[in-house]
Amino acid sequence: MQIIYQMENKYSSVKPIIDNSLPQVFIETYGCQMNVSDSEVVLSVLQKAGYALCHSIEQADVILVNTCSIRDNAEQRIWGRLDVFLQEKKKRKGIIVGILGCMAERLKNELLQHPAVDVVAGPDSYRDIARLISALSSGEKQINTILSHEETYADITPVRMDKNGVSAFISIMRGCNNMCSYCVVPYVRGAERSRDPHSIVREAQELFNNGYKEVTLLGQNVDSYKWTNPENPTESVNFAQLLELVALVDPTLRVRFSTSHPKDMGNGVLYTMAMYPNICNHIHLPVQSGSDPMLLKMNRKYTREKYMERVAKIREILPDCAITTDIIAGFCSETEQDHQDTLSLMKEVCYDSAFMFQYSLRPNTKAARHFVDDVPLAEKTRRLNEIIELQNSHSLACNQKTVGNIYQVLIEGTSKRSQEQLIGRTPQNKTCVFDAKGHKIGDYVYVKVLSCTSATLIAEIVEDEAIDKKLGFNEIRKDIKEMFNNLINIKNDKN
Ligand code: SAM
Ligand code: SF4
Repeated sequence: MQIIYQMENKYSSVKPIIDNSLPQVFIETYGCQMNVSDSEVVLSVLQKAGYALCHSIEQADVILVNTCSIRDNAEQRIWGRLDVFLQEKKKRKGIIVGILGCMAERLKNELLQHPAVDVVAGPDSYRDIARLISALSSGEKQINTILSHEETYADITPVRMDKNGVSAFISIMRGCNNMCSYCVVPYVRGAERSRDPHSIVREAQELFNNGYKEVTLLGQNVDSYKWTNPENPTESVNFAQLLELVALVDPTLRVRFSTSHPKDMGNGVLYTMAMYPNICNHIHLPVQSGSDPMLLKMNRKYTREKYMERVAKIREILPDCAITTDIIAGFCSETEQDHQDTLSLMKEVCYDSAFMFQYSLRPNTKAARHFVDDVPLAEKTRRLNEIIELQNSHSLACNQKTVGNIYQVLIEGTSKRSQEQLIGRTPQNKTCVFDAKGHKIGDYVYVKVLSCTSATLIAEIVEDEAIDKKLGFNEIRKDIKEMFNNLINIKNDKN
């Protein structure tokens, strides 16, 4: 595939317009990175329609809330916020409240009936958001929750709302086809579709041109990314190839991605990561459970053994790669033995960090329709606490192994405790704190880890020319590329 790096005008605006002479929109975002990315698409659409971003609900003419439905407590928070918006509407007549995202898609008219809500827009209707708002002049509340099989917002340049101007998200696909039995995502975000790689590379290039140094490619299951050229079906791009194309934008642009699915993550992605020093050595590989009966019931489509094979392959090809995960405690009919299996898998892998949750029943999912949510709440909490406690000890142990090592860090901000201290992340996604020594946000520095907690590495900047050569932006690892090509050739010969 030939990528043309020429920019078009429509891709040139990546920063919010701040102008209080224009109608003001405030966007509040809950949930995952994908929602953050979607809010940036919404702002782009609204800026084109003449709105400007503001930073508080008190200034806003339009308040938009991009919502999450993944667990019940995420939805409860939104209901609480609606009461706050209702108070604001009573104080300032004429302001508009819109609910976007997964909860809008799941609850539709139920949300529209709330007195605070004027507009309900699902994840595939953001192109329509300005029209929905202006149609309120008819006196009718507005709703669009139609899901699409094609929408990827490929041609819309998101307006970045990040604070640092250094790291940005790029959505590479939407929806999910996996139907994990506990999960609401396929119902509220629709079927999986992959975005045109030309538009992804163009977006990465545009971000780089605007001073960004890191992009994170987002999808519910990035390993199943597959784009086929509609005009030439023999031309297609998979995730490993996309990763390579983005890494080639510039060797000083860091590339991250999330989320990998254990059933789909192939060796091609691992070899591509090994080839390009600017693809960060971190893989988020959600396991959910260490018990085969639970994995089957969750419809994850891998066994514990297969998962451990993937972990072994990561460690073989990328020895210094951090591995993180998601774990659900107390899924339907989970026994004490199942729970112990999760703890033992955690001990086998020793994750660098993890997101850990209690199972939360989501209406209409396969689990809600066919299984019983029968682990008592107190038991779920006990199991979750044991998982968290174990993970904290593993996070600390993983961090302790870094003490004395030198890492390249991209500076992303100042420390909350002191303006004299900066924070950044290692390629392995570990947060470091260190004295500024004259450096600034957006710089790459080398740091030596002095000590750590389970969450943070305490480090100092090391300024040594020799280090730059050892750990810097080396050229592509041609040895690995050759090894990988040989492997492909052997496989093809066998076929
Ligand atoms: N697509 C990713 C994957 O397959 O791992 C993650 C998507 S989801 C937004 C993030 C995490 O939320 C999941 O990995 C899972 O651990 C958790 N999750 C999803 N549904 C849940 C539920 N009903 N109760 C508790 N946790 C849930
Ligand atoms: Fe949900 Fe499974 Fe899809 Fe992840 S892969 S979004 S957990 S259905």
